[in-house]
Amino acid sequence: MKNRIQTARPHVNRNEKLIFEHSSPGKCGVDLPPLDVPPVSAAEALGEVYRADIEGFPEVSELEVVRHFTRLSTWNYGVDTGLYPLGSCTMKYNPRINEVVARLEGLATDHPYAPEFLAQGCLEVLHQTARCLAEITGMDAVSLQPAAGAQGELTGILMIRAWLEQQGNPRKYILIPDSAHGTNPASVTISGYQMRPLKSDAKGCIDLGELSQAMSQDVAGLMLTNPNTLGIFERQIAEISELVHSRGGLVYMDGANMNALVGVARPADFGVDVMHLNLHKTFTTPHGGGGPGSGPVAVKKFLEPYLPVPTVEKTPDGTFYLNYDRPKTIGRIRTFYGNFGMAVRALAYILANGPEGLRQTTEDAVLNANYVMARLRDVYDLPYDQPCMHECVLSDKRQAARGVRTGDIAKRLIDYGFHPYTTSFPLIVSGAMMIEPTESASKEELDEFIDALRSIAQEIEEEPSFVLEAPCSTRISRLDEAGAARKPVLTWKP
Ligand SMILES: *Cc1c(COP(=O)(O)O)cnc(C)c1O
Repeated sequence: MKNRIQTARPHVNRNEKLIFEHSSPGKCGVDLPPLDVPPVSAAEALGEVYRADIEGFPEVSELEVVRHFTRLSTWNYGVDTGLYPLGSCTMKYNPRINEVVARLEGLATDHPYAPEFLAQGCLEVLHQTARCLAEITGMDAVSLQPAAGAQGELTGILMIRAWLEQQGNPRKYILIPDSAHGTNPASVTISGYQMRPLKSDAKGCIDLGELSQAMSQDVAGLMLTNPNTLGIFERQIAEISELVHSRGGLVYMDGANMNALVGVARPADFGVDVMHLNLHKTFTTPHGGGGPGSGPVAVKKFLEPYLPVPTVEKTPDGTFYLNYDRPKTIGRIRTFYGNFGMAVRALAYILANGPEGLRQTTEDAVLNANYVMARLRDVYDLPYDQPCMHECVLSDKRQAARGVRTGDIAKRLIDYGFHPYTTSFPLIVSGAMMIEPTESASKEELDEFIDALRSIAQEIEEEPSFVLEAPCSTRISRLDEAGAARKPVLTWKP
């Protein structure tokens, strides 16, 4: 095959040497001025913090140190290097203008304990970000405090609990569809509820009959993701909400997939009572190692009294202040006011786009996912055959017959220069291949990605071993993934 990627590795690749291997005695990476005090040994100078047990530090030149760190930086892959189609994660471009704004002196250097009269600008940023998110979701009030989507879930479920307690009975269970993200059952459990799974119907959506049967007087509410993790919009969401409400429960929406809805549909309009957003997904703040997360929670009016303290409010004369005097609050969820710098970046993104731009973004994200799905469905199995929203879920069903699974295909994608898609999630699809291109991908890049996946499908037909041994272009090939996560080796030992 013409575009087959070369497998042979050179015996020695100088770039794979670690800094320690360049060490030789007497080399030095710093140039200090002559001593003007009597010389002392390191042990004398450092006293009890001196550690005699650390030996064998590399001795290298300044240039070697520079090369070491520069080289390490190229061993990574991120949205700044290429397409990152990791489904359910919304790995989109982080506009540089966000960074410029977040570094403005008044925003970057203000202290969280600064008195309110000196922090009016920062409080206004928080207030305005919350107002924008309220408008986008249609909800009435927003707290920016939670530090991640998962913490937003916890906050939201605790508010549901507090509200139900006030009605006289917190109830026992929360219903969660079987396609849900793993954080959902975890949040429910930490909040003191038990989760009850809801089986999806043949179309991958909530089954109204199942829901009706499960929605007893013991059920506090439903926690759902919309569009769900199959990338499918729950068309019956209005009926679903009505049913839950009619039995005295509340509707929590996991808003991780809001990249499919912003500017087009508002969860408040289809019956959601409380939801979270992921600023590091939908609102272009850095995701993963690039920065702390942010998972604001949005609620309907009746839940507003339960929001974490403090809330950022505005007096009639336009002064902003932190309100701690909220007797029904669930309390504090995190230190201070949330990851402030992320609110700044999200607000920059929202204002730079405006309503039209945000809607366009959503439409492009949905178009891109449908394009990928349409161009791959003849070679990969499509378990739920219908138009998708911002992500599509294929499966390895055809390739599995030849012994190649979704994880192998993902590894092979690395050889083609792409970050893998999400493998094996959602759990209701055996061998899931979940692809979310986001609006950031150009048509050219999408075509290259699609061609790579088509080429891999052909390799599997002709010579599956090629794919089973992938990746062959990386420094190391397959890791013991569970071992790498559970027993990571984080230090170099001489
Ligand atoms: C990412 C995600 C979460 C959790 O968000 P974090 O910010 O990673 O805690 C929850 N649900 C879904 C569907 C997600 O994709």
